[in-house]
Amino acid sequence: MASASLHRAALAAALLLAAGVAQADNCTIDLDSDDAMKFDKTALTVSASCPEITINLRHTGRLPATAMGHNVVIAASDVWQGVAQDGVKAGPANHYVPQDDARVVGYTQIIGGGEQISATFPGSRLTAGTAYMFFCSFPGHWAIMKGELTVTP
Ligand code: ZN
Repeated sequence: MASASLHRAALAAALLLAAGVAQADNCTIDLDSDDAMKFDKTALTVSASCPEITINLRHTGRLPATAMGHNVVIAASDVWQGVAQDGVKAGPANHYVPQDDARVVGYTQIIGGGEQISATFPGSRLTAGTAYMFFCSFPGHWAIMKGELTVTP
């Protein structure tokens, strides 16, 4: 009995340690997307102290980018809808992202089914404690394909 509870305590300590390591290394935004116009996550956390934050987007569907294109765009939650609207105007040649726009923190190109893409941006572009959104700026998607990005120091 004593040894069983000791074992449990050791396991709990190991799990806590693993969680601590994962939190310290929050420099990656991993998202899957599909033909149902969905990301696999609705909330993510990254750290502003990361020298570089990597966005990894995977599209597990079959539809081409012209019909069911997805990207990931990051902007502060008070301006993200304006970025999405201006992204539609920017058009497919610009991956539906307004170019040279200070509101855009980071973004990936548009991909279609079976593809994946990565992009990076410096963590210094984020402010800890400010609310951000990640979303797909493909026309008609941003109202549904979105989630909250929490930024820690
Ligand atoms: Zn999309």
